[in-house]
Amino acid sequence: MLRRFSVAFLVAVLIAGCATSPTGRTQLMLVSESQAIAASRQAYLQEMDKYKREGKLVTDPAVLNRVRMITERLVAQAVQMRPDSRNWQWTVEVIDDPKNVNAWCMAGGRMAIYTGLLMKIDPTDDELAQVMGHEIAHALANHTAERMSTAMATQVGVIAAGVLSDKPAQTMAMAAVAAQLAVNLPNSRSQESEADRIGIELAARAGFNPHAAVTLWQKMAAYGGGKNPPQFLSTHPSDAARQQALAALVNKMMPYYQAPGPRPTFPVRVGAAAV
Ligand SMILES: [Zn+2]
Repeated sequence: MLRRFSVAFLVAVLIAGCATSPTGRTQLMLVSESQAIAASRQAYLQEMDKYKREGKLVTDPAVLNRVRMITERLVAQAVQMRPDSRNWQWTVEVIDDPKNVNAWCMAGGRMAIYTGLLMKIDPTDDELAQVMGHEIAHALANHTAERMSTAMATQVGVIAAGVLSDKPAQTMAMAAVAAQLAVNLPNSRSQESEADRIGIELAARAGFNPHAAVTLWQKMAAYGGGKNPPQFLSTHPSDAARQQALAALVNKMMPYYQAPGPRPTFPVRVGAAAV
């Protein structure tokens, strides 16, 4: 009987928890975006504190300045596209983990990039802008809350404690676990095409060559052909159809890329550690 109640309860939550993405797609939403942002903040601080204690936060000014130059131009476009994201805590850390070919952006604009991606993929600035633009797009499209919801729906313990608990601190701790799980969950194909379309536009408007979206994924695929596919490909499933879809977007993006004038920047905390 308890089991039947639980299923009915879950179904009710699932129905109540559907929302619509920027491209009109139905999303499963068990947590609001503001809850996702709060939980992501906690998860980010915990993760970065751990890396800091292990001495794994990169402090090399050359690396940090490169990442700053690229992300500050992308974020200036992100806040144009979604004005409320002006109030996010835009932050990026570079994590010294040469084996991890990965990058992500949580709800609320907290980002990370791993040295493995810089070393193994060796991206140009235009290609690195495509990586970070794609990750920022996931956050702008509220995919973090969607993936947290998936984590909660598939992790019974998390949902039981997180949705049913009347203790806010415990709920928050569980939500932070879900936020961390969400970073490592594969994106769905529809989330990927949304992030591709939004990301290539952010990058083009920020003055980065849209052709780099195609060459980036070619490099990823070539590297992924080895025995150990990069983490980035396991969380961002890729195939030939994706590369064709990106290639088809390139010409549409060229006018943004070729528009004259300096590109605006928006302040991003880079290498700031626990904030
Ligand atoms: Zn993605």
